[in-house]
Amino acid sequence: MPPSPPPNHDSAGDTDAPSPPLVRAYRVWKGNNVFLLQGRLIFGPDAKSILLSIFLIIAPVVVFCVFVARKLIHDFPHHYGWSIMIVVIVHTLFVLIILVLTSGRDPGIMPRNTHPPEPDDNDVFAAINNDRCQWPRFPLTKNVIVNGISVKIKYCDTCMLYRPPRCSHCSTCNNCVEKFDHHCPWVGQCIGLRNYRYYYTFLVSSTLLCLYIHAFCWVYITKIMGSEEISIWRAMIKTPASIVLIIYTFVSVWFVGGLTVFHTYLISRNKSTYENFRNQYEQQANPYDRGMIENFKQIFCTSIPPSKNKFRSKIPIPKEPSDLSASRNLHPLIKTRKTRQDLEIGMKQVYNETNKEEHRKDGGSAKSLDLPRALHTEGSYAQDTHIVVLPLQERTGRQLDISHDVK
Ligand SMILES: [Zn+2]
Ligand SMILES: [Zn+2]
Repeated sequence: MPPSPPPNHDSAGDTDAPSPPLVRAYRVWKGNNVFLLQGRLIFGPDAKSILLSIFLIIAPVVVFCVFVARKLIHDFPHHYGWSIMIVVIVHTLFVLIILVLTSGRDPGIMPRNTHPPEPDDNDVFAAINNDRCQWPRFPLTKNVIVNGISVKIKYCDTCMLYRPPRCSHCSTCNNCVEKFDHHCPWVGQCIGLRNYRYYYTFLVSSTLLCLYIHAFCWVYITKIMGSEEISIWRAMIKTPASIVLIIYTFVSVWFVGGLTVFHTYLISRNKSTYENFRNQYEQQANPYDRGMIENFKQIFCTSIPPSKNKFRSKIPIPKEPSDLSASRNLHPLIKTRKTRQDLEIGMKQVYNETNKEEHRKDGGSAKSLDLPRALHTEGSYAQDTHIVVLPLQERTGRQLDISHDVK
C-alpha cells in the first residue's frame, strides 16, 4: 500500500476534509503478536521457536532418509522398500503443515475494547469523584451459570472486557484467548479455542513419526544382522545413524507421546491444561464435561468458529494524543494496574465501532458489559449451554436480569 499523506486539516466537523489515512489493523495491534504475509499469519512473540521445532523434526527425518530408508529400498520385494521412504516424507510434510496451522492462526483472541464497559446501575457500588477520575466502579468478577453450575468470570484490565467462561489472558501474547489451554513455547503460539484441534493432531502425528523412525531403525539393524550374520551389537556399530535416531526418537517420544497421553486425558474430561493445573474442578463439578464420547466429538467434530479479528482490514490511523487524553479518565482500578503503554487505548477503531454498535443496541444497559457477545464465543463448543448472568448479590443486592442462550 502506498504511504498515506499526513493529514493537514485538523479542524473538526470539516465535511470536505479528505478521508483519513488508513492502515491495516494488524499494524496497530496491541498484543505482542508477530504477523507475516501482511497479516495473513499471526504468531506469538516467540514465533522464532517454531524454526527450532521445524529443525528438530526435519533433521532426524533427513538422517533417516539418507542413512536408513535409502538402504532399505532394495531390501523388500515388489519395491515395498520405496514405501518406507515415501511414507516418512509424506508424514513429515503433514506434521509440518499441522505445525503451521497450529502456530500461524488466530488461536481465539478476544478483540479488545477501547473503553471500559459502561457500568450498570447494579454494578455501581462506589464512585470516585476527584479531579482526574470520575469512573464508577464495577465488579471485577461476575458469576454466570453454565449448565446449572455457577462459574466465575473476571474482568480483564488490559482488554477491558469480561472474559467469557474458559477465556484467559496470555501474558506472553498479551491477549485474552478463548478456551485458553496454555501458551506453547515450542509452537510459539497460544493454544486455544481455534487451534487446539491442530495442536492435538500435531502431538499425535509427531508421536507416530517418532515411533515410525524408531521402528524402522530396528528393522534396518535386524536386516544387517541377517545379511551379515553378526550380533546385534556389531550390527548397531555398522549403522551409527540408527543408534543416534533410536536414542533421539526414544527421548522425543517421551515428550510428545507424554503430551499426547496427557491431552487425551484432558479431552476425555473436557478440561484445559490451564483449568487442570489450577484444580478448577476439584471442588465443584465440571460444567463442560458431557461424557468421553461427546467431549471428543466436541473437539474433532465441530466447526471451528471464525476469527473475531480482522487483522487485514483497513482502519483509520488512530490519533494518539486524543486517545492518551481519554485514557487519563480511565477506571481507577485500571489506572492502578496498567502501564502507560497499556493505557494507550483507541488503537483498534475497527473494534471500537463494533462495540459502539453493541452499546447502542443494548441501550447502555447491563448487556453493554460485553457479556452477550463474550458468552457467545463458546460457539459450537457449547451449543446447548444455557447461561444466565447473575450479579454479585452480596455487593449489589439486586439481580442483573440477563439471560442468554448460547447458540
Ligand atoms: Zn485480556
Ligand atoms: Zn500466548
